[in-house]
Amino acid sequence: MAIALSSSLALGRRNRLVCLPLFLLLGLLAGSSSWAREGVDVGKNSAFSHLVPAEGVERSSLEQYAQMLEQAAEKKALASKDHPQLRRLREIANKIIPHALSWNPRAANWQWEVNLIGSKQINAFCMPGGKIAFYTGILDQLKLNDDEVAMVMGHEIAHALREHARERMGKSAATNIGASLLTQLLGLGQVGQTVTNYGAQLLTLQFSRDNESDADLVGMELAARAGYDPRAGVSLWQKMSAANKGAPPQWLSTHPSGSTRIGDIEANLPKVLPLYERIKTN
Ligand SMILES: [Zn+2]
Repeated sequence: MAIALSSSLALGRRNRLVCLPLFLLLGLLAGSSSWAREGVDVGKNSAFSHLVPAEGVERSSLEQYAQMLEQAAEKKALASKDHPQLRRLREIANKIIPHALSWNPRAANWQWEVNLIGSKQINAFCMPGGKIAFYTGILDQLKLNDDEVAMVMGHEIAHALREHARERMGKSAATNIGASLLTQLLGLGQVGQTVTNYGAQLLTLQFSRDNESDADLVGMELAARAGYDPRAGVSLWQKMSAANKGAPPQWLSTHPSGSTRIGDIEANLPKVLPLYERIKTN
């Protein structure tokens, strides 16, 4: 923009009068593209995530996912590719994934994978790098329809795209670096080496309430763009709450429920329903 402005100043008076409004117009157009973005408004990924290299997080994730699949296979709990529920999950994922790229350019290089684990646990996750797993419990016990599955999948994919795991690790690294620096300043010796091993708990990572709300909103937009009714977020959480009256579902232990959750989803429906309705009418 600075170069363009200086070149306009070199022009004659009449041209400058023409050029300035053009620049104003271009500026307005550039600004309006972000104002006019359809869908939910959640801002950029957290700056804390930059404290930890994405490649490292994704590599840990791939290793842990492979290990989990191996353990499931040993217990004969890994669904074969012909399993009807796995085919259904992969079909839904195939519709959502093309909409992931606009949230995170790294997703273009992810080797997306969806697997189904035989377990009564009400659980599902998407690890950094696009490694997704559903437990049969969440499908069977909650009797999820396709729209509700898409909301769960969208939510989990949103955690990966928004790099919530990397953000948590970044915050942990910041705290450790801070503690280490403080220790050195106080002359208490080296603590160091604490920033190396924060990838250990990717499978059971607990997200903050902000992360959860973020994943709910980004997830419902992903589902809506893929042609799934985002109103299913309401019935999903009603089912989840009902299931919670017995034993708390595993999913809820890593995904805290909140009385405002359904309210937030309902409040954001007007932002994503038009996206869904457009797909449905085309
Ligand atoms: Zn979540």
